[in-house]
Amino acid sequence: MPLTLYVDGDRWRAHLRAMLATHPQIVPVAKGNGYGLGIPRLARKAGWLGVDTLAVGSYREVSEAAPRFDGSVLVLSPYRQFDEAAVFDKRVIHTVGRLQDIEQLASRDDRPRVVLERVTSMLRHGLDAADLRRAGRMVADAGLQVEGVALHLPLSQRSHVAEVERLMTDVVAAGLPTEQIFVSHLTRAELHTLANAYPDYSFRPRIGTELWLGDREAMPVRATVLDAHGVERGDVFGYRGRTAPRAGTILVVSGGTANGIGLEAPSGGATLKQRATVIARGGLDAAGFVRSPFTIDGKQRLFAEPPHMQISMLYLPAGARVPHVGEEVAVRVRYTATSFDQVVVS
Ligand SMILES: *Cc1c(COP(=O)(O)O)cnc(C)c1O
Repeated sequence: MPLTLYVDGDRWRAHLRAMLATHPQIVPVAKGNGYGLGIPRLARKAGWLGVDTLAVGSYREVSEAAPRFDGSVLVLSPYRQFDEAAVFDKRVIHTVGRLQDIEQLASRDDRPRVVLERVTSMLRHGLDAADLRRAGRMVADAGLQVEGVALHLPLSQRSHVAEVERLMTDVVAAGLPTEQIFVSHLTRAELHTLANAYPDYSFRPRIGTELWLGDREAMPVRATVLDAHGVERGDVFGYRGRTAPRAGTILVVSGGTANGIGLEAPSGGATLKQRATVIARGGLDAAGFVRSPFTIDGKQRLFAEPPHMQISMLYLPAGARVPHVGEEVAVRVRYTATSFDQVVVS
């Protein structure tokens, strides 16, 4: 009785191939819940695409990806000595963003492969300009294998080119023995501009969302109707013993908080005036019902009460068609925050 992610396989694979054609240097990112599809599936698909490197979010995710992909596995979270999950293997590329972590890796005798992260305006992780120069000297002395420099740019409406150009000045100054620059969240046009401006370097875009989820219409999500109960005005239902404001149907569908189904914003307007209008209309939202992400016959329906662990209770007004038990209904989700009961690829 599942919450299901359906994938139109032909269309999805066509999109993946098209992304590879426009981004031949792509490093697919498979992390977290695998963008709803699971890391193992994405690792196999990266192999099918024929890329040389796959990025995972953390060391714990290496074991999900590595058995299903033959190339290098870049760990996006920077190495920390206290990370007990850290994996040392010839196929693993570590990201380092602090000099003490470089020292730590340099003290090993298996010559780890590293990507040096330069901190960006995100101020998340990475070395500043001076430390990147020091890092350049350290890796040369220590014999670490430098696989590239990483720049993690914010999701921005404005162009990243000026910032990348400033950062590239530091990269060039650091005299590193690598020409690979791993970048995140650059547009195709930005990548093109940078490739032309720095012909000696190879820019490797790390892409997750746009790659795996770029053709959303090929990946509908559906919940299954599990039960339907007709109610009259005043009938009691739910955990909190609420009463139905009008006649209608309480519809029980699969998908709850354990799947990542959450409350949507209240359907009443944000301002007092809008709220007053809603109440004057006597809308169901005025009765405290909240918009749900479930859509039935093209209409977004209201939660009868907040989602339960694995199911949700919806309210259908009288007159609306009541879907039969077993029928599937559309649901809008954040793929990266949803744990589907099953993924069905056609
Ligand atoms: C998650 C992540 C990406 C991929 O981000 P998307 O928005 O899913 O493409 C790229 N770079 C880094 C460092 C990340 O952590």
